[in-house]
Amino acid sequence: MQLKDSSLFKQQCLIGGQWISADNGATITVTNPADGAVIGAVPKLGKKETAMAIDSAEKAWPLWKNLRPLQRSDILRRWHSLIAENIDDLAMIMTMEQGKPLTEAKGEIMLGMSYITWYAEEGRRVYGETIPSPWAGRQPMTIRQPVGVTAAITPWNFPMSMIARKASPALAAGCPMIIKPAGKTPFSALAMAELGQRAGVPDGIISVITGDASVIGDALCANPRVRKLSFTGSTEVGKKLMASCATTVKKLSMELGGNAPMIICSDADIGQAVAGAMGCKFRNAGQTCICVNRIIVHDDVHDQFVTMLAEKTKGIVVGNGLEAGVTQGPMINPSAVASMQAFVDDAVAKGAKVILGGKPDVKGGLFYQPTILTGVTPEMRVFREEIFGPIAPIMRFKIEEEALALANDTEYGLASYVYTRDLGSFYRIAEALDYGMVGVNEVALASGEVPFGGVKHSGLGREGGRQGIEDYLETKYILLGGLSA
Ligand code: NAP
Repeated sequence: MQLKDSSLFKQQCLIGGQWISADNGATITVTNPADGAVIGAVPKLGKKETAMAIDSAEKAWPLWKNLRPLQRSDILRRWHSLIAENIDDLAMIMTMEQGKPLTEAKGEIMLGMSYITWYAEEGRRVYGETIPSPWAGRQPMTIRQPVGVTAAITPWNFPMSMIARKASPALAAGCPMIIKPAGKTPFSALAMAELGQRAGVPDGIISVITGDASVIGDALCANPRVRKLSFTGSTEVGKKLMASCATTVKKLSMELGGNAPMIICSDADIGQAVAGAMGCKFRNAGQTCICVNRIIVHDDVHDQFVTMLAEKTKGIVVGNGLEAGVTQGPMINPSAVASMQAFVDDAVAKGAKVILGGKPDVKGGLFYQPTILTGVTPEMRVFREEIFGPIAPIMRFKIEEEALALANDTEYGLASYVYTRDLGSFYRIAEALDYGMVGVNEVALASGEVPFGGVKHSGLGREGGRQGIEDYLETKYILLGGLSA
């Protein structure tokens, strides 16, 4: 790996300020999905090291929580600056372990940075309140305090920004965080931890542990000293973690799977809708939780939309994300490629038409063709399940109620989109969509300033915005008595 600063490529874990390997030398090998080449290996840690990380976090916590918010803010801003200075290396690491094109990797790092800079400032605005008293001689008030030791478990599709989105509000609020990154993409997390150390994050305030996910997950969930778990990943694993955390009654944030609809009304600007569908379907080879999963198009503009989308989609360049001009990288692993084929085969068997793609790419390996399906119905798996790949399923509607019924016919509720130029449709549809987020004539939803999150089986809590720090804080009510003269 050609890095300007090779010390950012860490093959050890950070616990209590020390970079460590497994006692028995056990490792997990990490490969590049673009060509299968081994990139490196990280320690296979477990219960013992998780307990060490919790101990070190607990030990470091009093000092961290008692710093002035401005002191924590200074450290977060230094972390932000170091990430900005090293963005080329961080993007290279991300593309090699995850596969997304370099420009997308840089975009993700900038998104992650937006959370750090936002929470560096939000941490200074953690206000309590004085409450107008119902009693003479007594004054109720609240103060906000950090919850304590926190943990994060993060996915492979956004190896940097999911960590920034959790660690920056935790640290700003005064909490230590133990991070368990995805086994497929640990190097971005370890590089972030190295930069955190350089920025002055004290020992034990950020630890990163790699290893057996269920062993580490169980150790974090079962430990009463971990007061909050923030998870981003599949709904299936999220539900297991919620059950495991019940015994220790932890605070939980769950950013889970999605099944985003995009409604395109007859009055929509079709060029804009096509650009939105492209950006939101094929980014990260379709492997994002807010990727559009079902495109629901008004009968009057359906054919025009499909023709224009197919034309644009033909321009996607599939290949190794390090190569100039590539706009779609590989899938994460062979089972993701097999899963794309199974989705297409199921849809075709039930009557869908393949307009474009529908097969593994001629490049072989883990590359899959950008695919467009029409004639999709609710009986098909592409309608019901999170596709997590470059397949765009399209269906028709005639009246608004029908589009809304289709859009809401899922247990998920993360992102949704609508394209319309009519003010009435915009508001009616945005209000009726049973989702945590609605993009109207726009698909780029995330940034430090805004609350990201879902309803139903897509999760609990919000990350980003003024809401994102709440889950790292407790509200303490204090009643001050004896005030009568
Ligand atoms: P995943 O399989 O659920 O894994 C996510 C994380 O959980 C990884 O670190 C994984 O570790 C760990 N994990 C797996 N099994 C575990 C267990 N039994 N106990 C504790 N930890 C466990 O999800 P993924 O495939 O990485 O990510 C894709 C999913 O994430 C999609 O469903 C996507 O929609 C969702 N996602 C949601 C958001 C959002 O904001 N709502 C954002 C991004 C992604 P290993 O990697 O080591 O197995």
